[in-house]
Amino acid sequence: MNIPYLNLQAITSLHGNEIQTAVTEVVGSGWYLQGKRLQTFEQHFSTYIGTRHCVGVANGLDAITLTLRAYIELDMLNEGDEVIVPANTFIATVLAITENRLKPIFIDIKEKTLDIDIEALEKSISKKTKALMLVHLYGRCTYNEHINTFCKDNNLILIEDNAQAHGCIYSQNRKTGSLGNIGCHSFYPGKNLGALGDGGAITTNNDTLAETIRSIANYGFKEKYVAEYQGRNSRLDDIQAAVLDVKLSHLDEDNQRRQAIAHTYYKYIENPKVALPSQLADENNVYHIFPLFTAQRDALQQHLESRGIQTLIHYPIPPHKQTCYRQWNHIHMPVAEKLATQELSIPLHPAMTDEMAKYIIDAINTF
Ligand SMILES: *Cc1c(COP(=O)(O)O)cnc(C)c1O
Repeated sequence: MNIPYLNLQAITSLHGNEIQTAVTEVVGSGWYLQGKRLQTFEQHFSTYIGTRHCVGVANGLDAITLTLRAYIELDMLNEGDEVIVPANTFIATVLAITENRLKPIFIDIKEKTLDIDIEALEKSISKKTKALMLVHLYGRCTYNEHINTFCKDNNLILIEDNAQAHGCIYSQNRKTGSLGNIGCHSFYPGKNLGALGDGGAITTNNDTLAETIRSIANYGFKEKYVAEYQGRNSRLDDIQAAVLDVKLSHLDEDNQRRQAIAHTYYKYIENPKVALPSQLADENNVYHIFPLFTAQRDALQQHLESRGIQTLIHYPIPPHKQTCYRQWNHIHMPVAEKLATQELSIPLHPAMTDEMAKYIIDAINTF
């Protein structure tokens, strides 16, 4: 059997007719930016996440970058301030921090749960620490009351990077992206809620913050041609918004399919050489990525490849070890660095069949 890591064609086909209809409608409407489709999606997405506001932007990196920029414009952050960030994230989280001339303070994670290390979190605080970036990596909710209290006690802004966890619930239907001061979302095609191109959004209950981000993303205009900020252009276009609106209406069922496949992985993958992360309650994990951990990662990848199964690594080089961040290369984050050498992501998406899952399980168990 041949199983690519991701099959966007098959994923789009799940709701293909509805998507085609929505796209055709926008094409025929003659209105492609800042239109009704965007407004409707923003309304639906803010309702879904459970916040008063949603602002569509061009991509997930912009969502985080514009968030930090808005806090700077609102004088709640200043150049050189410190932002705590888990060491095992995708580089975009950190790029948003450094682009705003803020300083990332990396903290390590716990090996079994992949959550941030609370002890390390407590030690990382200084007078300059102003924000915590929480990343729900792999679709796992990493928020808890302890983190909330910690942020309140230390006057930290809590920002959620929710790029990988659309639909994830913390408790009593509180969704990730609504738990902190602001949630940042990516609609990159491969994400759980993916567009047919680039897209992103922020969600928040803070009126001033939402308005500021909307303005900075629109040339800094307060009203048309009147610039309050040195802004930029970061838009979610109406075709993508229309596609996302269709896919949002199916997000929960798509996530349930991901969860069903993940259950079979947890139930049947059995190989002493391969470790799985601790299993969370279903609502707390929307399985954007299903990571395995093994000391023989490259051999396992080859073994699966030889059986037609494509796997990926998320992520081979932690941000603090990247060449572009030479100044932080000396920092040692033992768990994040170890997991970067051991992680292997196996296929998991809503268009996968049970047969594919069984075939993958079989291949892993015979490694
Ligand atoms: C995908 C992703 C981003 C960036 O989103 P883009 O839309 O690709 O810019 C940021 N953070 C995390 C954790 C991501 O997975």
